[in-house]
This record gives sequence, structure tokens and C-alpha cells, in this order.
Amino acid sequence: MISGHAPLNYHLHRIGKAQSPMCSCNLAEESTWYFIFDCFNHNVPRSAFKSTICN
Ligand SMILES: [Zn+2]
Repeated sequence: MISGHAPLNYHLHRIGKAQSPMCSCNLAEESTWYFIFDCFNHNVPRSAFKSTICN
């Protein structure tokens, strides 16, 4: 994930395996940063993960 070589559309598009680099929310390219920190589609699991590691 850190290297950006993850099965996300931003990388898959770069190597010709996806038609678009955009996230399924269609608000930004699906980079690892966007996937982990920003996309609202992942708010629920992100919050659960934060509460697990911060408590
Ligand atoms: Zn998204």
C-alpha cells in the first residue's frame, strides 16, 4: 500500500488493468492515500479501526 502498488484503480489504470483511475465515489482518483484517509465510502470501517487502535 505504501508504494502505491495496490489493487486500487489509480495503480490498475497506470498498468492498463482498469479503464479509469477514479474511485467508485467518483470524487477523486483511487490512490492509496485517498482510499485509506479520505473516501467517504470507507468512513465506517475507518472509524472502527481508529477506535480499535486508539483505545
Ligand atoms: Zn471514493
